[in-house]
Amino acid sequence: MQKVYSNPDRLLIGHLAQVLEQHGIDCYVKNAFLAGGAGELPPLECWPELWVRDDADRARAMDLIKSVLQAPESGSEWICPDCGEQVEGQFAACWRCGHRAP
Ligand SMILES: [Zn+2]
Repeated sequence: MQKVYSNPDRLLIGHLAQVLEQHGIDCYVKNAFLAGGAGELPPLECWPELWVRDDADRARAMDLIKSVLQAPESGSEWICPDCGEQVEGQFAACWRCGHRAP
């Protein structure tokens, strides 16, 4: 068994676990319910952790996690690096100056 990712955001960990399962990787979440009160970051050792049961899945799991974390969140706004305009997430380019989304 191998730990592949840890983050205080339980929802993110849950989402990643789902993605891994969709790709046929047997995984589970540790510390899912030990986090402190709302708005309070749990100490590092209590962060929810994502583990894979089969060590052979580790590299693939890491790749999947990386690609999920790098994918832009649909619907989240971005700031145009060129003109500073706030652009809605569904647009791939700035509506004002045409600069592509970062
Ligand atoms: Zn712009």
